[in-house]
Amino acid sequence: MRAVILGVGDAFTRLHFGSSALLDGPDGFVLLDCPDLIHRAIREATARVGWRVDASAIDDIIITHLHGDHCNGLESFGFARKRKRASDEAPTRPRIHTSRRAADRLWERLAPAMDAAGSANPPRTLQNYFDVRVLEPQTPAAVAGLTVRCRFTNHPIPTIGLLISDDQATLGWSSDTPFDAAHIEWLSQADVIVHECNLGPPHTPIESLNALPDELRAKIRLIHLPDDFDQSSTDIRSLREGELLEM
Ligand SMILES: [Zn+2]
Repeated sequence: MRAVILGVGDAFTRLHFGSSALLDGPDGFVLLDCPDLIHRAIREATARVGWRVDASAIDDIIITHLHGDHCNGLESFGFARKRKRASDEAPTRPRIHTSRRAADRLWERLAPAMDAAGSANPPRTLQNYFDVRVLEPQTPAAVAGLTVRCRFTNHPIPTIGLLISDDQATLGWSSDTPFDAAHIEWLSQADVIVHECNLGPPHTPIESLNALPDELRAKIRLIHLPDDFDQSSTDIRSLREGELLEM
């Protein structure tokens, strides 16, 4: 399994794109979260690894939660794909895979910009743009030929961490979370764990990750970092934009 890291920043970054990745699954690409400037983030990161990908080539998006630095790009992604559908260049409605609690409120967030309620045509709905599929914690889901499992974190709004597997390897994705030993235990099934690290109660301080056993720390790569993150504070490596993860 291969994934390219699109962004490593947090909600306040002035230097980076928001934390997200693009997975190359057996049956297509999977976008893992959809932050601001998503088209540019995809273009710049995939160019570095020699993939030629834009939104029209991505039919599956996993959304971990509805904070803007993880989903602000959906409006633009949805409009871009609607335009491509009209010209038949990308006939599929992109699928959004997310928790039921996020799915239930997704249109509340997108509708004021996307329902076209002021036009002469009937108002548009979420289904005009996206095919929404619910991820349930007890039920592994098939996404682009990959198996996706999810687990709720203790972030302030409903947020899911992920285990994403093909038949050879598993990627763990903490998503936004305070430090949570049970979450790390669940993620430890993975070959590589992409773990968030940031300040404040909703996030995981580096000191907590530094205290984990060597074997576990060796599998962790850091993401969702503050711009002034001090790499010398840890022996856990930070991810870079455009970095290819091969598992
Ligand atoms: Zn968040």
